[in-house]
Amino acid sequence: MSDQQQSQQSERPEPGTERRVVVVGAGMAGVQTAVALREQGFTGPVVVIGAEPHQPYDRPPLSKAVLLGKAEDSAFDIDFEALDIELVLGLDVTGLRAAAHELDTPSGPVPYDVLVIATGAEPIVLPGTEGVLGVHLLRTLDDAARLRPVLDERQDVVVVGAGWIGAEFATAARAAGCAVTVLEAADRPLAGALPAEVAAPMAAWYAESGTELLTGARVDHVEPGRVVLADGRAIPAGAVVVGIGARPATGWLAGSGIALGPDGSVTADTTLRTSLPDVYAVGDCASFPSARYGERLLVHHWDNALQGPRTVAADIVAAAGGDHPAPPAYDPVPYFWSEQFDRFVQYAGHHAGADTLLWRGDPADPAWSVCWLRDGVLVAVLAVGRPRDLAQGRRLIEAGTRIDPVRAADPSVPLKSTAL
Ligand SMILES: Cc1cc2nc3c(=O)[nH]c(=O)nc-3n(C[C@H](O)[C@H](O)[C@H](O)COP(=O)(O)OP(=O)(O)OC[C@H]3O[C@@H](n4cnc5c(N)ncnc54)[C@H](O)[C@@H]3O)c2cc1C
Repeated sequence: MSDQQQSQQSERPEPGTERRVVVVGAGMAGVQTAVALREQGFTGPVVVIGAEPHQPYDRPPLSKAVLLGKAEDSAFDIDFEALDIELVLGLDVTGLRAAAHELDTPSGPVPYDVLVIATGAEPIVLPGTEGVLGVHLLRTLDDAARLRPVLDERQDVVVVGAGWIGAEFATAARAAGCAVTVLEAADRPLAGALPAEVAAPMAAWYAESGTELLTGARVDHVEPGRVVLADGRAIPAGAVVVGIGARPATGWLAGSGIALGPDGSVTADTTLRTSLPDVYAVGDCASFPSARYGERLLVHHWDNALQGPRTVAADIVAAAGGDHPAPPAYDPVPYFWSEQFDRFVQYAGHHAGADTLLWRGDPADPAWSVCWLRDGVLVAVLAVGRPRDLAQGRRLIEAGTRIDPVRAADPSVPLKSTAL
């Protein structure tokens, strides 16, 4: 045995004395935390508990290939057994007793040394429609399975909410040949995410695909076979799909003493530790302070559920002793993509209303992008069919680069060569 191997071995805790990590939530963030722990050399017990009965799976395909029947499921290609990760599926964790280092579950208490909360988000229900036949949400594999026959039977569909999920569902339903009406209470799609001048051209995508988009349309109630609007109009609906946003799934933490934000997120710190000792939170359920953007961020996108777990795992491994350094502060440039109406839409960064908007190309064209600048520094990019703008912009944002606004407004100039 080499000296190095010997010293590494002496730093490792005795088998049986290693800390037991329990992850609650078997979605992207939970599973990636377990995998990252192994990748980073953690040898203690790792248990992942998930409420859903299915083998852990990826959510983005649910509104795309899975919905259209092009893929049966989207299970992660991970060999949990080989990684010595214990999966406990179909078990709902109902409470946390931090003083005892225990979780409550219907099958009894589960002890932990280190806890990772990765319970994701749950869709917001349209008031009065819970349990109403023919009204659907789209968050889980079971939701997608319930929606498949709606598409197969080409039912008339009403989608409530012209956000990311609503647009992706409408795209799939149109591809399947359904008549689709999208109801949006605001005056444009994606009103909560993008400024009016950027979102307004996207309304044309709906019309182009044969989807009827009704803006300023507030739902009053849903009756069997129709949706009634506040102005009295009634829209026939074989099925109703509600996509009006999601909230952190943190209700089960009530009474645990953990700090939550007004948005319901677990308020984690720069290495995703929570207000309770030995408890981390990651993914859609957790917000974190971003020095980069000067505010606390709650990110409901896939990339955050991939990156955050690496920080959590590194901090757990560092806290276990040895020569592992503590990870740097988690302060990513948020990234997401959406596939809608035959377009590949990508966004990196984070913008505020006061940032300067700069167009690269004409939104009437199939490909264009938009940059946001703060004091001359690139802070966000939205790219429609221009993945190079996205990739180059993301690197410039990461580096906090000032760009030349005149050259950047010319879409024939590569974004990377506009750096000052
Ligand atoms: C239909 C759809 C399409 C999407 N498409 C995109 C896309 O194109 N691009 C993009 O960037 N992002 C997309 N997203 C967002 C992305 O999938 C999420 O950000 C990501 O799944 C978050 O992962 P997570 O592990 O934090 O949460 P989740 O995926 O929600 O996983 C949390 C898990 O925890 C379980 N759980 C909750 N409470 C408990 C409890 N008390 N006990 C035990 N288990 C519990 C839940 O059942 C769930 O399985 C999409 C999301 C959806 C729903």
